[in-house]
Amino acid sequence: MQHHRIKYETLYFIQERMLHMYVLPGMHRLPPLPYPYDALEPVIGEETLRIHHDRHHKSYVDGLNRAELYLAEARKTNDIEYIKYWENELAFNGSGHILHSIYWTVMAPLGRGGQPGPRTVYHVNQYFGSLEAMKNQFILAAVNVEASGWCILTWQPSWGRLEILQAEKHQNLTEWSGIPVLVCDVWEHAYYLDYQNRRADYVNSWWQLINWNEVERRLIDAMNGRVSLVMEQAVF
Ligand code: MN
Repeated sequence: MQHHRIKYETLYFIQERMLHMYVLPGMHRLPPLPYPYDALEPVIGEETLRIHHDRHHKSYVDGLNRAELYLAEARKTNDIEYIKYWENELAFNGSGHILHSIYWTVMAPLGRGGQPGPRTVYHVNQYFGSLEAMKNQFILAAVNVEASGWCILTWQPSWGRLEILQAEKHQNLTEWSGIPVLVCDVWEHAYYLDYQNRRADYVNSWWQLINWNEVERRLIDAMNGRVSLVMEQAVF
C-alpha cells in the first residue's frame, strides 16, 4: 500500500509541476503589468496604475503569502487559535491577488483590444441575447455594486454558460476561481433537529459520511474546469 501511494504521489507531483499547477504556500509573486504604467492613458492615469499595481496588488500577494505560511505552520503545531481571522485573510488576499491579476490582463491600450472572439460571441448571444444586452447588464451591475467590489463575467461550469455577478468587497470568505470539491452545510437547518446548537458535534460526525470516491472524481473534474451537479454513478 505504502509503495503504491508513493508512486501515485510522485506521478501527480511531476504532472502538476509540469503543468505549473502547484504553487507552494507562501510563494505567490506579484505578476508584472503586461504594459507600461502609462499605457492605459487617458482612461486610467499613470499614477493610478502605478499605485494600484505596485502597492495595492502587492499587499494582497504579501498578505496571502503570510496567511498561507501561518496556516502551514499552525497545521504542524496543531495550534490554530485564530482560524477565523486567518481564513478571512486567505479569502481577502487570495481573491484580491486573483482578481487583480485578471484585471490587468483584460485591459489593453486604447484601440488595441480587438473584437469579441467567436467563442465569446457565441456564449454571450446564447445566454444574454446580444453583446449590447450583456454590456448593459454588466455596466448596470458594476455601477450598483454596494460600496467596494467587482463586477465579474464568470463562466459557470455547472451550467455550461456565462453569468454576470457582483462581488461585494471581494472575498466574503471565498477565493474567486476556486471550484468546490467537498462541501459541508453548516446552516442551522442542516443539523438543528439532530444536534440543536452543537455544530461541532455535527461537523465531527458528518466527517464519517464523506464519499471519498466522489471527492476524487470532483477533484479531477475541477482540474479540467468541470463541476457536476449530479453523481456520476450511485453505488449504494
Ligand atoms: Mn484594486
